[in-house]
Amino acid sequence: MHIFCVGCRKGTELSRGFRVTEHLGHDAANQAGGSPPDVDAVVVGAGFAGLYALHRLRGLGLSARVFERGEDVGGTWYWNRYPGARCDVESLDYSFSFSNELQQEWSWSERYATQPEILRYLNHVADRFGLRSDITFGTRVVSAVYHEPSAQWVIETDRGDRVTARHCIMAVGNLSVGRIPAFPGLDSFRGQTYHTGDWPKDGVDFTGLRVGVIGTGSSGIQAIPMIAQQAAHLTVFQRTSHYTIPAQHHRLDPDWLAAFKQQYAGYRRRMRVSRGGVSRDYSALETPPQQRRNTYEARWTFGGAEILGSFTDLLTDDRANSTVAEFVAGKIREIVRDPEVADRLIPRGYPFGAKRLCVDTSYYETYNRANVTLVDVTATPIEAVTPAGFRTSAGEHELDAIVFATGFDAMTGALLAMDVRGRAGLTLQRAWEAGPHTYLGVCVAGFPNLFIITGPGSPSVLSNVVVSIEQHVEWVSDFIEHLRKHDLDWAEARPEAQHDWVAHVNDVANRTLFPVGNSWYLGANVPGKPRVFMPYIGGVGRYRAICDRVAAAGYSGFDLGRAGHERAPAPQPAPALQWVLSATEAAALADAEGAWG
Ligand code: FAD
Ligand code: NAP
Repeated sequence: MHIFCVGCRKGTELSRGFRVTEHLGHDAANQAGGSPPDVDAVVVGAGFAGLYALHRLRGLGLSARVFERGEDVGGTWYWNRYPGARCDVESLDYSFSFSNELQQEWSWSERYATQPEILRYLNHVADRFGLRSDITFGTRVVSAVYHEPSAQWVIETDRGDRVTARHCIMAVGNLSVGRIPAFPGLDSFRGQTYHTGDWPKDGVDFTGLRVGVIGTGSSGIQAIPMIAQQAAHLTVFQRTSHYTIPAQHHRLDPDWLAAFKQQYAGYRRRMRVSRGGVSRDYSALETPPQQRRNTYEARWTFGGAEILGSFTDLLTDDRANSTVAEFVAGKIREIVRDPEVADRLIPRGYPFGAKRLCVDTSYYETYNRANVTLVDVTATPIEAVTPAGFRTSAGEHELDAIVFATGFDAMTGALLAMDVRGRAGLTLQRAWEAGPHTYLGVCVAGFPNLFIITGPGSPSVLSNVVVSIEQHVEWVSDFIEHLRKHDLDWAEARPEAQHDWVAHVNDVANRTLFPVGNSWYLGANVPGKPRVFMPYIGGVGRYRAICDRVAAAGYSGFDLGRAGHERAPAPQPAPALQWVLSATEAAALADAEGAWG
């Protein structure tokens, strides 16, 4: 492949995609010059989002280059190889729907697929659609700078690539930057340390070792039962106990699967307009206690996070919430034999579901094993990591290996790790000083032609993320196509539209119990991170309707323009709160949600 450096006009032969190492030194402005961009779009990340973005852009006849930090495709499923890693949305839902051929030819073997199976699936997607040739692996994007006169992005990587693009699509993931708390003495530990989100490719053998797992969110809860089966002794360091529901996992019967696939298209249509899972139109408080209990019992036996959809008021009324919390507490007491341990495992101080609900396999049963100890690090805080293990206020815990299941700098971590500069050199760090503000979770005022897939302010992590990814990628690529058709070079969210959207996202969140959860949804797990409720709780169906409405109105809330020209008003001005659906639209959505539930 041959491309030209638009800074010096010299051609260069590319060995690994767009590598132009000898052209370092042109500053971003010169690089963009008056020349056409190298590609229509640069996509950062090659997980579910980046793969679909590339496929979709190609389908529109656009050129794209994907940069991926990992050595292969997969994103979350490339990095999170810890024992027990699985999806907690059922495999048949947690997969692409954009190609009927793909969903017909691929057969999931289990209700909740394991990490290796999901990674195989994503490799299959990359091969089936011939995506690898446009992906540069092992390469981290370090900066993306917008050049106003040419309306182009200049993207630079840690390996010296410098590419200009009309559009920059951030498919960097919400949970792709792991975090390890800064415990004093961390570097002094003599044994091995691991983070669940950056697990060694060849796996880890814990046989005969004394292992410590710190963190009991979804990752810890999946890893703990598996590590307990291998380690000589497992010590779990728990700060907050998290609610978890048994997956009631099983293999999928091939005949059942074949029958299911007959109605896949209709099923997917209903998913797209759902709230993000299952919704029921009954109030917990208005349901008689025995019937309510039967509902919870049936959902517990069915397994998975759907227990949250049992009643409509579970996340809006704390009295309703305590009915399900008490039910789960009862289950923990039934399963865990030592009443003191059971008591420590019962979550307290925040509503059921306000932190991400976990889905497990034999989690509570694991605490009945003789080789597992639960340490409450709220009661006896960790003071330091020592060469021999963890020192808490109650004493030393000697360990050969430590597993950090301590989560991620969620939703903004990967975006803010890059130097992203929009108009007049405005950095994303500066624009988001008070928390991540976006219009529709996709665009940021001051950053034309920058699109975030499942960004803060979109349903993202409060949905089946693949459904959200597909919706975002389709909406963004349609937008890019719209610009091209109308001979426009740039689109930028208007500050007032962004302001109204952020207010709407907060308003919806504040009507629920979610903000009480002190969770990573709020940035509460990262010291110093602004507390803003980041995902949009309004539901996938409603959100889709809003986005479609914005598009149908000629992309209201955006300024659109040509390179070198001042902002031109969007074809339609943005009426305040235009996303509040009309009564008819809301009723249509409620019908669709009802049908799904
Ligand atoms: P990712 O899969 O995170 O991919 C982003 C990619 O971008 C990464 O490979 C990263 O290396 C790359 N990247 C980031 N920054 C840069 C850079 N500067 N330069 C180059 N490359 C970069 N969601 C569900 O809906 N259901 C589930 O069951 C579920 N299970 C999960 C289990 C685990 C263990 C985790 C951590 C998350 C889970 N999620 C689940 C959320 C999951 O992240 C999404 O479902 C989905 O995989 C996200 O895809 P993505 O492509 O948006 O991001
Ligand atoms: P997480 O939910 O943020 O959990 C991190 C855990 O580490 C929490 O228990 C936290 O305690 C603990 N922790 C953090 N800092 C600590 C400290 N300084 N001292 C003691 N404990 C500390 O992270 P995660 O488990 O990796 O999950 C993140 C998200 O990824 C999930 O919510 C989910 O969306 C996704 N995921 C899904 C699955 C799945 O089942 N498909 C699996 C894994 C991950 P506190 O609660 O007290 O902060």
